[in-house]
Amino acid sequence: MSRVPFGGTIGVIGGGQLARMMAVEALRMDLRVAVLDPDPACSAAPLATHLVTGALDDRDAAFRLAELSDVVTVDTEHVPADLLASLETRVAVRPGSKVLHTVQDRLVQREFLATNGFPQVEYREVSDATALRTAASELGHSAVLKTRRFGYDGRGQARIQSVDAVDAAWDAIGQRPAVMESFIRFDKEVSVILARGLDGDVRTFPVAENVHEKHVLHTTRAPAVLSQRLAAAAVEIAVGIAEALDHVGTMAIELFVVGDDRLLVNEIAPRTHNSGHFTFGACATSQFEQHVRAICGWPLGDPSLLRPAALLNLLGDLWSAGPPDWDPVLAEPGASLHLYGKNGARPGRKMGHVLVLDDDADVALQKAQTISTRLGC
Ligand code: AMP
Repeated sequence: MSRVPFGGTIGVIGGGQLARMMAVEALRMDLRVAVLDPDPACSAAPLATHLVTGALDDRDAAFRLAELSDVVTVDTEHVPADLLASLETRVAVRPGSKVLHTVQDRLVQREFLATNGFPQVEYREVSDATALRTAASELGHSAVLKTRRFGYDGRGQARIQSVDAVDAAWDAIGQRPAVMESFIRFDKEVSVILARGLDGDVRTFPVAENVHEKHVLHTTRAPAVLSQRLAAAAVEIAVGIAEALDHVGTMAIELFVVGDDRLLVNEIAPRTHNSGHFTFGACATSQFEQHVRAICGWPLGDPSLLRPAALLNLLGDLWSAGPPDWDPVLAEPGASLHLYGKNGARPGRKMGHVLVLDDDADVALQKAQTISTRLGC
């Protein structure tokens, strides 16, 4: 079945905050959400009409989820592509297993970008100690070593800043199959969030500008401060990637901006994305609603920015002395609090975000930074 009826059920593998925010939008449009997650108290659990408990690579659990669902989607790109390929024989899976196969392995992702001529950082495959040395001598000693699989938010990554650091970096990532990338002294980081429908229609949100701290997103500003020409070029690259992958659903493309005229793709995320959370409150249609519409085979919505916005991520470190006092956020005009209902706070764990709207994106960002200072994050 290509189109999910109203009242139908979306099955989502992974019950984190992305599934939770998608479920808010899905329920609003009279859909049900079935969730597969190892933790019965996961973020999406309070909104799930069915909860299947199991690991994200548990085949039996995934087939039980498929039985309950009109379409299956994922909360993370780390669900094994071969598991999704077997589910595809039973139910529509969007995005499809081929997209996940290409994206979940950094090397395959980089090869896909190279084959299709998209601009990206220089990289080398690192499969053993010999390849490690060759890569370091070819790329120079300012590089980043990243595991091919299961890396995110800086996990599975090690920075190389000198010839002596090469072996230590290899040890730090557990000597696992990896990709070495040149370290880019970028001027800024931006992301393009888009949605692609079942019919190939693509809608893009305004380009977002992101600041990371310790490899984790700290703030996002939308729209980005970018020339019209570069913004259009970023969108063209992102749309080209979504089309080349034949993606269905929301997708994020993270790019480095170098100087006035260079864009390099850092990473593809075939799902809703942290840097797109501003759309949930600042745009006519959120990235979560777009994802629901796309995977249900429905027409996409209007992605227009209703008001400039800034987003501040709230990490678990803030909870070190107990739950924070949210009154300063609630009292701030234009600010809204989004909490993910996580089962326990840990340093670095994404617990929520603050969205600030203002007629001027600079003011929105300043307010977000003031809130950050007041909260101590
Ligand atoms: P990733 O998980 O690959 O998106 O990396 C997280 C963050 O680390 C990025 O958003 C960048 O801020 C930084 N980073 C990753 N790769 C590179 C690179 N090749 N050069 C410079 N910074 C990088």
